[in-house]
Amino acid sequence: MRKDESGRNFGAEGVELHESDSELSKNQENEPFTQMTSAQVAEAAKQIMPRVMRRLRKDRGRMVVDDIVSFSLPVSGQPGREAPLVALKTTGCMHSLGAGGCTMCEYGWAGRKVQTEELRGQLDRAFKIFEKANEEHEIVQFNINALGSFFDDREFPPEIRREIYERIKQAEASGRKVVFITESRLEYIDEAKLLEMRTMLGDEAKVEIGYGMESTNELIRDACVNKLLPADFEKKLALLKQFSVERWAHIILKPPFLNERDGIEDAVKSIDESFNNDWAEHVILMSMNIRKSTLVGELVERHEYELPDIWSLIEVVKRVGSEKASKLSLLGFVTANGTEQKVTGCSECEAPLKKVISKWTGVKEDYDELMRIEKEVHCACRGDWQKEVDKKPSEPLHIRIAKNLDRLTRDYLGAPLHEAIKSRPKIV
Ligand code: SF4
Ligand SMILES: [Zn+2]
Repeated sequence: MRKDESGRNFGAEGVELHESDSELSKNQENEPFTQMTSAQVAEAAKQIMPRVMRRLRKDRGRMVVDDIVSFSLPVSGQPGREAPLVALKTTGCMHSLGAGGCTMCEYGWAGRKVQTEELRGQLDRAFKIFEKANEEHEIVQFNINALGSFFDDREFPPEIRREIYERIKQAEASGRKVVFITESRLEYIDEAKLLEMRTMLGDEAKVEIGYGMESTNELIRDACVNKLLPADFEKKLALLKQFSVERWAHIILKPPFLNERDGIEDAVKSIDESFNNDWAEHVILMSMNIRKSTLVGELVERHEYELPDIWSLIEVVKRVGSEKASKLSLLGFVTANGTEQKVTGCSECEAPLKKVISKWTGVKEDYDELMRIEKEVHCACRGDWQKEVDKKPSEPLHIRIAKNLDRLTRDYLGAPLHEAIKSRPKIV
């Protein structure tokens, strides 16, 4: 920008700028990210989020897990039944230890490498929990997990996976139907591991494997969650299908940097696309929790993030419709240590809504009951929620995300976004 002798401002191409234009030009010099396209913001996020998250974890600390973790969850399609999910104390999620991990997650780590012998001892205790929980059931369920990924050899060495399959197979000997459930990032899944699993468990065993999709929008997935799916994730999903594995996609409700309306729309779209693209047979809709040592925890302290409203969750289920809702689990309300802040409602709506959500198994009766309450309850907090959802943001989502990334790079990498991008080679 230059001034002529009469004090008028001119832009780079000789066009006269008025006061507001010159202000804009100055802003663009300071904030070049406002010119970025959505694809450029997504690309920038892939580069800088792992660097930001690594620094953030260093500053805010990590939770050290000192024992196996177990809690009960409703069993999809079996009203009234709950079954334990057990996570062994493994070394920890390598995505978290390497690339800083997902922005909302703090499942912790062991603080050191966990040896195979120690895992064996934990397995004995885990299977005692399963034995008790399965006692009176014809369909026996084993939901067993690492802190990060079941198929990552650094968390579960192959011999431990084989011991797990053997123990599960023994339960089948009594003539009962077996369900094996676990979770893994997709990069650790390959044909040899799935072949071994199927060979050892047999074709009769039902296998459900959960994986974090979080959002089917790549910009949101990488910029807001730091998920970084492998480039060939669709091939991994096809491979799982080939081995008759039920794929359970995790979708998070309202990742950071999204407002209430964005959160609802992203969750509905992600659920639809997970099914329509044949990426999942079942979706776990995770309501966000606040864990102190995460980016979400940091944003809450800065008053830059609020948990999704309970009515947003109801709205997502309603918009998804009864057919897809029958293949949904609603999680995030029951957690291992229970200290996280979770989605709440007001004194009028919270109790009836949570009653249905906490026992939700996806059957038609659950959906009908939730929709009945949705019609009947008109509390004050619902009105506030509606006003929030009706707000129209002044800027497109990718620019709002870029502004947040810029703040993060300034705080954690000591440089504005455009300089932070240039300063290091790509990480992925
Ligand atoms: S959500 Fe899963 S992949 Fe992400 S950091 Fe946590 S354990 Fe790792
Ligand atoms: Zn309410």
